[in-house]
Amino acid sequence: MESCEARRQAREVLAQVFGYHSFRPPQEEIIEHLIAGGSALVLMPTGGGKSLCYQIPALVRPGMGLVISPLIALMQDQVNALRANGVRAAFLNSTLSAAEARRVWAALYAGQIDILYVSPERALMEGFQQVLQEVPLSLIAIDEAHCISQWGHDFRPEYVQLAQLRQLCPQTPLVALTATADVATRQDIIRYLELEEARHFITSFDRPNIRYYVQAQSASQTEIRRRFISFVHERHPQDAGIIYCLSRKDVEKTCQWLRDLGFNAWPYHAGLSAEERAANQERFLQEEAVLMVATVAFGMGVDKPNVRFVAHFNLPSSLEAYYQETGRAGRDGLPSSAWLSYSLSDIALRQNFIEQSEAPEQQKRIERRKLRALLGFCETTTCRRQALLEYFGEEAPDHCQNCDNCLEPPRAVDGLTYAQKALSCVYRTGQMYGVGHLVDILRGAKTSKISEKHHDELSTYAIGRDLSASQWHSIFRQLTAAGYLRVDLAGYGGLKLTKRSREILTGAAAVSLRLESEAPKERKKRMGASVGIREGDSEWPADQVSQLLALLRQKRMQLAREAHLPPYLVLHDATLLALAQGRPHSLEEVAQISGFGAVKLRQYGPIMLKVIRDFEEGTLLAPS
Ligand code: ADP
Ligand code: ZN
Repeated sequence: MESCEARRQAREVLAQVFGYHSFRPPQEEIIEHLIAGGSALVLMPTGGGKSLCYQIPALVRPGMGLVISPLIALMQDQVNALRANGVRAAFLNSTLSAAEARRVWAALYAGQIDILYVSPERALMEGFQQVLQEVPLSLIAIDEAHCISQWGHDFRPEYVQLAQLRQLCPQTPLVALTATADVATRQDIIRYLELEEARHFITSFDRPNIRYYVQAQSASQTEIRRRFISFVHERHPQDAGIIYCLSRKDVEKTCQWLRDLGFNAWPYHAGLSAEERAANQERFLQEEAVLMVATVAFGMGVDKPNVRFVAHFNLPSSLEAYYQETGRAGRDGLPSSAWLSYSLSDIALRQNFIEQSEAPEQQKRIERRKLRALLGFCETTTCRRQALLEYFGEEAPDHCQNCDNCLEPPRAVDGLTYAQKALSCVYRTGQMYGVGHLVDILRGAKTSKISEKHHDELSTYAIGRDLSASQWHSIFRQLTAAGYLRVDLAGYGGLKLTKRSREILTGAAAVSLRLESEAPKERKKRMGASVGIREGDSEWPADQVSQLLALLRQKRMQLAREAHLPPYLVLHDATLLALAQGRPHSLEEVAQISGFGAVKLRQYGPIMLKVIRDFEEGTLLAPS
């Protein structure tokens, strides 16, 4: 096909079927390449828009598009989304009854399926491979292609055998897609699927719509919880979010706490029965202002596009894991948040875990390096996004203006003297006391433990009165994170010096410390309210836009219930927002809004117009 003809057809499908008006930068190039019959490796972050990259060529090229996907829940979701746009999509996996599967087979042979999703097991069955000889294919897409690599966590042995498909259909373009970044995985995909000659499309891993917040827990846990709640109230009052906790017990406790505060929160962890987990996940997909409190077992294959925030109440396991987990926020591109809080004991646990493991020294070195990178991100006083992207080998500008450090630059001070005071206090007390007692000594407190041990006679007694207790706690945490101290968990949490401590005691190290101010300012305007509604984005006042948006959401919920679909498969949040901001009055105007393809325009356009009209006539009252 001529390339300009291919481009025209791709754009037409984009607008007519999906209702979008422009491609995101790499999509169009990938799509043209596939339409022209080329193969490709596509690396794009979560939410980047990988699906369209194979769906559109599958619709433009003659024949049926075959998509291999390892996640059954996701398959169903994708098929529902395509059907909602009028595409003849189906799936084949172990969840179908024999009768349902027969129906799919019949449609398949009758040439009535545009896009077929199958599990890798199914794709490898002999009967299925027979089909491939008889039914012409437009392309083969291998989604979550990182499952082919033993490097990652999601290794699937069947994936390695998918190379067979290449041999069976050598003329069919093949596209492998993944959001996993590292080089080793990438090389495995290329090798196993013989993509050496194919084009490689590698997109930036930046998620510009995600705002990063990191809070060290030098304050009490109660204080951290208070901050979390005010973050949710300020930025995400009516939104869906995921809250990650370390253990089942933490999940249960946190979930109960949120329920007591009136949130619609549900737990998810390996201790629940499969039915409970499935029911809670379903609820999370179907409802709007719903919180999922979960261990990291939750999230794979959940592609609810309007998860507005992901919170971690502990250190994540690595920076890669953090990136994947927070990447579940804001797939739809609207403003979203990643919120993290961690404590000194998180750091201590992790460090001890590495040191006490039986792993070979080489493995430990890797683990230490990974932990250092993670703590570096957590403790940095400069742009978080820059720290994150640098870890993935990407260059980034100095300031993103969309992370806590860029929006409210922390006070970083030359901390050598403080560090020396802290370390000599550890040294002079015999490297056996926890942070609480050490801070008491530095602050010159009068406790029974101090008088009992004669610690008021030490030269470090009361030399740190100029800082508050929580500032000292924070300094001890920062010094531990930077490797100048370690917490001896076997020795009841006493702090000990490390090899590196010398650098500080001799004054050879440069230490920059974040000095948290005593009373954190109320973060009002600057951190801004989210949900994407800002004064001036619409010709109507922001509160009217919110009211109309609430009504549109209500209507969408009703439509979703009637159709037994999750609300986001009816219309996306971004589409509702555009309706509320633009207030179209005719179907022609609605058609201009991103997210209204021909089918949805017919089906939902008039209904949404009516909501807008009623709102303007004031016959409907906005829900409070
Ligand atoms: P990925 O699979 O890369 O995580 P998806 O394919 O699920 O991402 O796309 C993420 C979201 O972005 C979806 O809600 C999708 O409808 C939307 N999207 C993708 N491409 C476009 C586009 N060109 N214009 C508008 N929205 C898009
Ligand atoms: Zn930044």
